[in-house]
Amino acid sequence: MSKKAEGSGENIYDLLLEASKKEKKQKRAELLESIGIKEYFDEGSVKIDMKTCKGLECNLCVEACPTNALYWKAGEIGLVEDLCVYCAACVFNCIVDNCIHVKRKRSNGKMEEFTTPRDVLILLHKISSEKRSDRIKSIFPTVKDYLERYG
Ligand code: SF4
Ligand code: SF4
Repeated sequence: MSKKAEGSGENIYDLLLEASKKEKKQKRAELLESIGIKEYFDEGSVKIDMKTCKGLECNLCVEACPTNALYWKAGEIGLVEDLCVYCAACVFNCIVDNCIHVKRKRSNGKMEEFTTPRDVLILLHKISSEKRSDRIKSIFPTVKDYLERYG
């Protein structure tokens, strides 16, 4: 039987769940801000395949992680979810393709996935091309504007 919040018509359990999600998000934001990180992806996942990982002697992903979200525990790499910003620096530095899998969601809802340094490079290149194109468009919104200056 579902309980309704008085006057709201909404399920009380949904409201409590929503409130705890908000609180968790707020705590995460405070934690990340305390280490100087203000902009980040707040939805995503990181999976590490320990069958192909080269182990503690490699350690490159742990060293590359900007938030210290990765750590070793009993011969495996652990992840502190609240510290992960889904930047994919771990994938970019991993020496084994498809060993680390990072998924993240952009604010426009678009999903991105990385399993190799090449995936990360392709996306970085695409972002810098888009930024360049946006900058040109902001200076010359139309071909006519361009021709007026240089034609
Ligand atoms: S995605 Fe970024 S923050 Fe998350 S574990 Fe990898 S390097 Fe660390
Ligand atoms: S960088 Fe890749 S191979 Fe090296 S420890 Fe991390 S997951 Fe394992």
